[in-house]
This record gives sequence, structure tokens and C-alpha cells, in this order.
Amino acid sequence: MEHEKYMALALEQAKKAKEIGEIPIGCVIVYKQNVIGRGFNTRMRDNNALGHAEITAINEACSALGDWRLEDCTLYVTVEPCPMCAGAVLQARVPRVVYGVPNKKAGCVGSLYNLLDDDRFNHRAEVISGVMAQECADIMKSFFKDFRKRDKMGYIFDFDGTIANSTYLWKKVDRDFFAKRKMEMPPEYADKISTMSFYEGAVFTKTAYNIEETVEEIMQEWHKGAVREYEKNVTLKPNVVEYIRFLKRKNRKVGLATASNPEFYLPVLKKYAITECFDAFADGTLGLPNKESPDIYLKCAEMMGVEPKNCTVYEDIVQGLKSAKKAGMLAVGVSDGRCEEKEKAVEAASDRYITDFSQELEMLLKKK
Ligand code: ZN
Repeated sequence: MEHEKYMALALEQAKKAKEIGEIPIGCVIVYKQNVIGRGFNTRMRDNNALGHAEITAINEACSALGDWRLEDCTLYVTVEPCPMCAGAVLQARVPRVVYGVPNKKAGCVGSLYNLLDDDRFNHRAEVISGVMAQECADIMKSFFKDFRKRDKMGYIFDFDGTIANSTYLWKKVDRDFFAKRKMEMPPEYADKISTMSFYEGAVFTKTAYNIEETVEEIMQEWHKGAVREYEKNVTLKPNVVEYIRFLKRKNRKVGLATASNPEFYLPVLKKYAITECFDAFADGTLGLPNKESPDIYLKCAEMMGVEPKNCTVYEDIVQGLKSAKKAGMLAVGVSDGRCEEKEKAVEAASDRYITDFSQELEMLLKKK
């Protein structure tokens, strides 16, 4: 009975881990019927391989007793300790360990090894297993079930204006382009080409403004100017790096859906070390219709292996948001700091509108 009472407290710790999306393992250390150490798994939150429940609890207990030896203590943990934690139990001279379920893949208190019962070490500990085993197993099972479900959720990002502060860039390239030909950039130009692929934009520009150069030459000229600017000067939206990394850590699929090409977006993603976070790149090289059609979002979902209805799309342009909705996806409008009128239109076209990716991060953290 005594053991169950304390194991229930270890389970409460495990729930705290689950709430923040960590593998739900919890631990308490009891000294003369007082809990003097608590811990739960925080490995992902803290980006620290040492963030196991037992280590945290041992740290707290040592501070509480003011001693590196935890003599007369009992350590309760929901899952059989790993080699590191069994080692820490030895080092701290904990005389008794009680655990819930065995860990067949990493357990070192009976499953793979028994580090606590080896007389070559100068310390051995009594081990009691199977206390509240059902409850300890259930919380793990439900966590991994949710985890696999999240694998079925996709997050699709537009690049220019959504991930990157690069909207200015094409205007700059366009302005330079027209200036070189001693022309003013037409006021409607930027809007017109905003949904077009690189190639479509060049064809449109050549025919609409009677440009002498070939489509190829126009593309090359844009290309050179843009690549240089992307590599050197483009920054990312606030908190988007943190958000994308968070999604990846939480086992979500992440995709890029952009009319742009890798030579532009890859140097930027690389610079911020988030290239590996992406499972799919649906870009201009696929030859899909522009964002007036939902095709590019549907293709991205297919590449990620996620059903459209489980996809969220981040976009800063109205047409993209409308097409994302047509694709059956949740459309999140991202502010690109334009005039009030344009931002209002983006907001109206979206299911949800954000000005900073920290809003999305907070929402997911609250959900768990
Ligand atoms: Zn461990």
C-alpha cells in the first residue's frame, strides 16, 4: 500500500511530462515518509540527454538532504531505469528502487542488465517491480498513440513573406529591372506577378511590357540579382525558426509550398539551419499551376504523406489562403507588415491570422 501511495505521486510527475509533450516518465524519492525529490522527463524541452526523471529527482533529493548519499531513501519511478539512471542510483547509494513497468529496450534493472544487483560494484540496491504497472503502462501507451497521430499532421509554409522577410527583394529586383530599361515599375505589377512562378512571371513581363530580351535572359537577370540578395540580406520572421524546430521535435510533418526555386530559398534555410526540418519541398521546379490553384498544397500534403484535412497552411497572400481552403486545409494568414487594407484582406481570407509565430507556439504548448 505504501508503495502504491508513492508510485501514484511518481505518476503525477509523469503526467507533467506528458502535458509538455515529453515521454511520460515520473519519479519521486522518499525519505522517512517525506517526498524529498521529484522529477519528470524533460529531455526535449531542455535539449538535454540528461533530463531523465530520476536524475532530476536525485538532484533535488541530494540538495534537500545536503548529502550526495541518499541512504535510507526509496526511489519510485514509473518505468524501469535506463543505464544512466541505474548508474546514478549506484552513485547516490540509494538502497531501494521501486518501478512500475519494465523497459525492454533500455532497462538496466533487470531487462537488459541488472546494474543494481552485481556484486562487482560496491553498492547494490533492492528492487521491487510491477507496482501500479497498469497505470504506468497506460500513460506510456496513450502518449505513443498520440505521438503517432501527430505524425499524421502536416504544416505547410509558404516561403517569401511567410517564413522570410523577402517581399521587398523581388520588388527591388523588379525595380532594378525596369530602371535598367528606363521604365517606371507599373503600380499593379507586384500584385500581378505575386502568384506566378518564376517562368510565368518572365513570360508575362516580356509580353505585357514589350521587353526585348528573351524569357531566358529575363530570368537570368532576375536570378543573379535575387540569389545575391537572398544569400546576404534576407532575414526570417520572428520566432519562425523556433516554431518549425518545435513542430519537428513534436513529430509533425513540415513542408514548403512555394512558387520559388531552391536556389533562392535553400541558402536562407541553410543559414538558419532548418533545412532538415522539412519533409517536403513543393516548389517551382515541379511545374505545378500557381497558387490560384490548390494543386501545390495538395502536392505538398501528398509528399509529406499527410491527408489534406490534417494540414495547416501558413500564407501571407490572399490567393494562397483561398486555395489552401479549397484544398480542405486550415489556412493561417501571416502578417507581412503591409498596409492596413492589405493585411485586413489577408485576415479576412484566413481561418486564423497571426502577426508572430510565437502565437502558434503558445497555442500548441497549451494544447500540449
Ligand atoms: Zn534514465
